[in-house]
Amino acid sequence: MSDTTPTSAPATAPAPELKTYHGNCHCGAVKYTVTLPEITSVTECDCSLCLKKGHKSLFPSGGLVFEEGKGEDKLKSYEFAGKTIAHKARTLNEIDDIFGLKVNTYKGTTLEPGYTPHAFTGPEPTATIENAKTYYGSCHCGAITMAFKTAGPLPEGSEKIQQCNCSICCRNGTILTYPHKTQISIHSPTTPPTPLSIYTFGRKFQQHTFCPICGVAISLQKNRPVDPELFKKEAPAGADQKQWEEKLPVNLRCFEGVEWDRVKVENRDWKNYGGKYEVP
Ligand SMILES: [Zn+2]
Ligand SMILES: [Zn+2]
Repeated sequence: MSDTTPTSAPATAPAPELKTYHGNCHCGAVKYTVTLPEITSVTECDCSLCLKKGHKSLFPSGGLVFEEGKGEDKLKSYEFAGKTIAHKARTLNEIDDIFGLKVNTYKGTTLEPGYTPHAFTGPEPTATIENAKTYYGSCHCGAITMAFKTAGPLPEGSEKIQQCNCSICCRNGTILTYPHKTQISIHSPTTPPTPLSIYTFGRKFQQHTFCPICGVAISLQKNRPVDPELFKKEAPAGADQKQWEEKLPVNLRCFEGVEWDRVKVENRDWKNYGGKYEVP
């Protein structure tokens, strides 16, 4: 803040203590710092893009300072309705309790030039379920569309729905559900079809998939046959490898018509599960 900044606070009021936060994307290609008073709240916008990405935004007056060679040019931008990159609280390492931050809501939908959900034209999920309800959805740009068949409306159903504060879930902003793979159909309507982008890290058990165009997180595919000995060693006690392999977790944020006001999203504290995340 420069000394010419007008302020309405009395001259005797102590300036808020500033703190420097370190942010980075998960793989470490982009690193930055941002200095601002202790972060106690974030802004969540209800526009179509922020909802699908789970953005928790900050608007620091000083902007971001990128580390040399780890700069803004490395960020792939996806522009929708003139939106630019918001400062993402989800990428800051010093925020201990991401779900504990106060949320200010912003009615971005009022500024949005009408977002039309993308139609699903792929094959229906093959699971046989009585009284099923199928939710349809997509990434933001529509290059990847999805269908999710489940036993009735989600609020009355038994699908596990959770968000987690681990390094990757936090950054991706995912709200995951864990259906059997036959309950899900993922289809790219583009010509040629747009392949999912894949990111793996750590034990590389899973492929974190996302749309290569808009970046919205899609699913968690199994990376490869996992050695049973390794699975036993690394998975939570009692986990059944066969069951695990048949599940296809997907990002529920992609789907239209989810009854968010009634769906129970469980918060998981798995920040340090499988070892503390070290910034690459
Ligand atoms: Zn997309
Ligand atoms: Zn997680």
